[in-house]
Parts: sequence; structure tokens; C-alpha cells
Amino acid sequence: MNRISGRRRKVRPGMSVKLKITLWFTAFMTIISGICLILILTIDSQVARNQAYSLLSDTVRENVGKVRLTGNRQLDLDEDFSFYKNGVYILLYNKNKALLSGQTPPYFPVDAELENGVTKAVSGSEDGFYVFDLWVPSGWEDGVWIRGTIQRHNSSQEAGSILSMFFLILPFIILSASLGGYLIVRRALEPIEQITKAAGSITEGRDLTRRIGLTRGSDEALRLANSFDHMFERLEHSFETEKQFASDASHELRTPTAVILAQCSYIRKYAGSEEDYLEGVAVIERQAQKMSLLINRLLDMTRLEFGTRKLAKEDTDVSLMVETLCEELDTGARGISLERDIKEHLHAQADAHLLSRAIINLLENARKYGKDNGHIRVKLHDSGDNLILEVEDDGIGIAPEHQKKIWQRFYQVNSSRQAGSGLGLGLSMVRQIVRLHDGDISVNSRPGVGSCFTVVLPKGEKPVV
Ligand code: ADP
Repeated sequence: MNRISGRRRKVRPGMSVKLKITLWFTAFMTIISGICLILILTIDSQVARNQAYSLLSDTVRENVGKVRLTGNRQLDLDEDFSFYKNGVYILLYNKNKALLSGQTPPYFPVDAELENGVTKAVSGSEDGFYVFDLWVPSGWEDGVWIRGTIQRHNSSQEAGSILSMFFLILPFIILSASLGGYLIVRRALEPIEQITKAAGSITEGRDLTRRIGLTRGSDEALRLANSFDHMFERLEHSFETEKQFASDASHELRTPTAVILAQCSYIRKYAGSEEDYLEGVAVIERQAQKMSLLINRLLDMTRLEFGTRKLAKEDTDVSLMVETLCEELDTGARGISLERDIKEHLHAQADAHLLSRAIINLLENARKYGKDNGHIRVKLHDSGDNLILEVEDDGIGIAPEHQKKIWQRFYQVNSSRQAGSGLGLGLSMVRQIVRLHDGDISVNSRPGVGSCFTVVLPKGEKPVV
């Protein structure tokens, strides 16, 4: 039997999930904010340029009808003509692209190339400008260039102010996102911490009766806590069984050991003849055999219980098995008669060796606890998907208060124990074997009338006849 080892492998803990998620969240927020910043800056500069372009073209075109050349090539401007409107400066050039008149923003390069109907960006010595030029013909050969210009907003300045605003609020955005993320994760992981703490204290205190008993939390956490509780329940059961086993085994072994020791000291002190010695040795041999049987049975049960002995299930003709075992049962000495009512060709998926041991135990019990010249009736039939085996006797019977306990290891109803006829392991093993075959066993008994043990097993595949 394995004990839980007190040694623990030293594992260096990795970064906590909380920290990992928070860091990931923070990095993600920073990247998203950076992308947003780039988008804002790009869109902002495009919008500003488009606005400037349409303002320029509108203002220049507004002035087209307000400018003319007179016969002597003098400029004739309408009254409402304006050299500056809506931030747009108007310049007038002659056919040879020489400046005639106009107003320019500071540092504007007045000799920048004129191109009809084109809006473009030009750079001055200090600043940048957008310009839009339009050729307004006058007669066949002459005309006036109208140029609108507008100062380009210093994009680096604007970007700088957006950037400084961004860097001012960025820490708050990231901090609140990280903090929010951290709090959500912490809350989500709270049940896990609770489970870890509870599991730790259960392990430290070695109190397997305690449970985590989580009632609130996410579905995953509840399922995890339930699995832990289930595991503790099974551990508790295993420890209890182990404790019970150790105490039962030592208790049962104590009697034959004491008899052997007493017999040895008796022989040493009082045996005078060879006959005395042989008698003493015979007692010792009987007790040693009982001990050996007990140890073997216990080992078998332990192997079955802890899965060391694997079931070798195969298609088994249970009818044939029961028939053969009945034939082998020796009932002659006490005048017991055996009646059989066995339906043929009933099969089950079974470990033949184990199943026959279980049936032998039932048959032997029926004989052992049956009355002299009594009857044992063995019936095998099927019902639905099950096989039903009944082993009935008309012997001493079992009082109701013992009927639940006879399945426990080492339990014997007093009289039989005193008679030293058994070990009290038979029925517990029968039940174990039946359950390993997905079946069940029950007893119906009345003291002085008799007992009937009923085994129900799932039927195997139909035999190919
Ligand atoms: P044992 O080795 O004592 O027979 P079992 O586990 O087979 O151990 O049986 C447990 C107890 O149940 C027995 O001691 C006996 O008192 C009772 N018992 C089992 N089978 C019968 C039966 N057919 N009739 C009456 N009592 C029975």
C-alpha cells in the first residue's frame, strides 16, 4: 500500500498567472495606444491638408471674376476683391510670371513655380505653404495668374502637442487598464487561492476529514474544488481501509501466533514423549496453516482492491462453471443434498478464476452453515440483461442485525467464529469480485430457516451456436 510521501520535489515557481496576464494586458494596451497615436497623427495631417486645399481653391476661384486687365495692361480689381480672406493670401502675377500685386505671408517664396489649377506644397526659408494657382485669360494673349497661398500649419508643432498630451494621459490609461486587469484576474483566481490554501492546510494538518467546500466561484473553480474534495474523500476512505486492514490483520494474526508460542513453551516444558511432541507440532502446523491461508487471502484481496491484480475478463460459460463447481462440492459427509436448476449456455464477460472462487465461497458457506441432512439449492437463470445466481440453504440462517455486517472483512457471526471454521474473509471477497464484474450480491435470510444469497451479473455476448 502506498503512503503519501512527505518528501516534495522542489519546483521553482514560474511567474504567477496574475503577473503574466497583467504584464500582457499592459503591453497590449501600450501597443494599441501607440497604434492609435500613429493613426491620429496621420489622419490629422491629412484632414488639415485637405481642408487647406479646398479653402485655397474656393477662395481663388471666388476672385476669378473680380480681376481683369485693362487695355493698357493695368490691373482692374472689383471693390470687393480682397488680397486676404479666411487666412488665404492672394497674389497676382502677369503672363511672364512676375508679381503684379498681392499680399504674402512672411517668408513666402514669391517666385515659386506657377502651375495652372494645381494645388501643392512649397517651402519658404522658415515655413511651409500650400499654394493654388489659376490662370485667368484676358483676350487672346494676355491674362493674370491668381495665386492663393496659405501657411501650412506646423505639423511637427501640432504633432508635438498631440504627443505631449498623449504622453500625459498614456500613463493613466495604461495604469488604469493594468490595475483593472489585475483586479479582475485576482478576483477570478481568488477561488483557486482558496483551494490552494485549503488543500495546503488539509495536507499540513493531515486531517483528511476536512473539505474545501467551495460554494461560490466560477464554474471551473467549483469543478476543481469538487474534484479536490472527491480526491480527499477517496484518500480518506483509502486511509481508513488501510488502518482497518492493518488493525484487523494484526488482530487476526495475533491469535494463531499466541497459540503457536504457547504450544512451543508447553512442548519445551512438559512434552515428555514423542507422542506429546507430535501432538504439539500438529497444533502448531494447524495454526501456521491458518495464518498462511489468512495471509494469502489478505494478499489476494489487497491486490484486487488496489488493482495490482488485473481482471482477465473473457467470454465465460457461467452455466458450465456453476454446474462443474456443484459437482465438485463435497456434501456427502453431512448428508446434505444438492439440487440444481441451471439454465444452459448462460454467458458473461468474466475472470473465470475469480468468479469461480466467489461461487465456491458461496457454495462452501451454504454447506458449512447448512444443517445436517439439509438441502442446498443452486439456481441459475437470466432476466433481461442479467444473469441471476441463487445459492440457498436451509441452515442456521443469519439474524437481521448481522446481515449488513457479514460483508465486512473479518466479520463472523459469533458462533461460527468460536467454532474456528472460517476467517471471516469469504463474503467480503465474494462481494469484491462480484462488484469488479459490475454485478451485485444480496442476502435474504432468517435465523433457523436458512439463507439465500443472490448474485446478479451482467450477461455477456450471446454465444455463437
Ligand atoms: P467465514 O470464513 O466465517 O465463513 P464469510 O465472510 O464467508 O466468513 O462469512 C461471514 C459470516 O457470515 C460467517 O461467519 C457466517 O456467520 C455468516 N454466513 C455466511 N454464509 C452463511 C450462510 N450460508 N448461512 C448462515 N450464515 C452465513
